[in-house]
Amino acid sequence: MRDLKVVRWRRRHHDLLAATLLTVFVSVSLGLTVSGSAEAWYGGGTPPHPYPLSITDDQVASLVGNPWVSPTVSANADLIVGQTLGTAGGGYLDWRAQVVPVQNLYGFGVTDPAGIASKTSIVLLGGNHPNETTGSIALEGMIDFLVGDDPRMAALRHHAEFYVYPQSNPEGRVHEYARANPENPSKDHNRYWNDTTGLMTDVTIIKTSMWTDTGGDVDYFFDFHSIGTTGSGAQLWTKSHLIHSDFADYLKDRESGIVRVATSGVSGMARIWAMSSDGLNAEFSFTPEFGVNKTSERYITYGENYALALYDTIVPEPGDANADYMIDGVDLGIWQTNYDPLGLNANAFDMGDWNYDGLINGGDLALWQQNYAPLGYLGLLETTPEPGTLLLLGTGLLCITRMTADGPTAPRRQ
Ligand SMILES: [Zn+2]
Repeated sequence: MRDLKVVRWRRRHHDLLAATLLTVFVSVSLGLTVSGSAEAWYGGGTPPHPYPLSITDDQVASLVGNPWVSPTVSANADLIVGQTLGTAGGGYLDWRAQVVPVQNLYGFGVTDPAGIASKTSIVLLGGNHPNETTGSIALEGMIDFLVGDDPRMAALRHHAEFYVYPQSNPEGRVHEYARANPENPSKDHNRYWNDTTGLMTDVTIIKTSMWTDTGGDVDYFFDFHSIGTTGSGAQLWTKSHLIHSDFADYLKDRESGIVRVATSGVSGMARIWAMSSDGLNAEFSFTPEFGVNKTSERYITYGENYALALYDTIVPEPGDANADYMIDGVDLGIWQTNYDPLGLNANAFDMGDWNYDGLINGGDLALWQQNYAPLGYLGLLETTPEPGTLLLLGTGLLCITRMTADGPTAPRRQ
């Protein structure tokens, strides 16, 4: 699986090199320097990471037909939710006084349609700042990993639904702006997400799509950026009350070098807008930031570890049907109620199919027994019940009541 992904990346990277050479040729032949009102289309560093829009187009095209990918409600079959205005519709030119072609805005969902009934909803946004290309590579790597064959991603797709908008500022990327685009050349593209006047056409289209696709209420929001042109580290920006949230802690476990930055932000940032009631009511909202001076493969690994940290945070242990972080008689009762060794029903993890094989049978019961943790699987008390205890629980289910209505608040799995 991983080999296939590397091959696909290299194919994209081949396109990327061709585009880079073309740009160098055009720039040299026209005597242009990339400076002034428009800026470099990548954030510097060694090696440079130019990220032409063709990479996004290629990745989205590769996702059409993937069994875990579907158009969002607002998207067409090609995963397009709208288009920019360009010169034809908006009457503007780019910083070189060149015509601006219309560009696609993409939106797609990633999930397992056969997953649990109440999934965690997660929005992934990219491309706000055109020259922050290392963030685009990380998001690309995360997307490829999310739709791939890793069994942890299969479990994550079972429990989560992703809404992905990989490129929110395509005209800025194509025309080599730093933080703006031809439609609004003097405005920071990540300061107007709370704008209600339609100032930025691409932002307006993507916001409207997000509302339509998610119903305006999500759990997690991520807006992928880069630190800038000199920093080589990686950061996670979020509000101070989320700096030690479960996701942030799990990410730190997987990527110890990521520095957590507590920042309140401003209301026009996508990350802050997403948390507002006028936005997406996101409970958790983060800005992944990536520096320079690393290989493409390293940024892809960052993206994969973002996906794995979500797996760590969201996916319950096998046996925990009701996701209350305890594996106990309540879960066994759910297994018993839905017992289906022939797979006659559409079974899911929250029904007792804890090994995701479509059946609810002895294989799942064995996982329940193995992971049995009636006081929670936090490393506090994990015991395997004796066969006698198992029988007692199996026959005494009606006597067992849950200790709390909601269970512990998302304790970290150890
Ligand atoms: Zn940025």
